[in-house]
Amino acid sequence: MSDRGLAHLVLTRRGYAAITFGRVVVFAREPTDLLWRHELRHTRQYERIGLAFLPLYLRLYARHGYAAHPLEREASGTLALFPTKTVLPVDSG
Ligand SMILES: [Zn+2]
Repeated sequence: MSDRGLAHLVLTRRGYAAITFGRVVVFAREPTDLLWRHELRHTRQYERIGLAFLPLYLRLYARHGYAAHPLEREASGTLALFPTKTVLPVDSG
């Protein structure tokens, strides 16, 4: 194994650009802004789901694969899993 560690090995073997463990993001290459946004959304998912994140991720992966994975689609901004706070306009009338 290389001295870059397990995360790098997983990333390069699977062809992934990055992997997120809780609040730690490991990039296999220099991240683009888009990739950063994607991985930061995963860290927010982790903050909401907590320790159940990994088993949930793996279960959904087994069912949906990568492209249709709900957490991946949400991280890519194509699916809204969690309600976001919306600021309603104040009715002045
Ligand atoms: Zn992802």
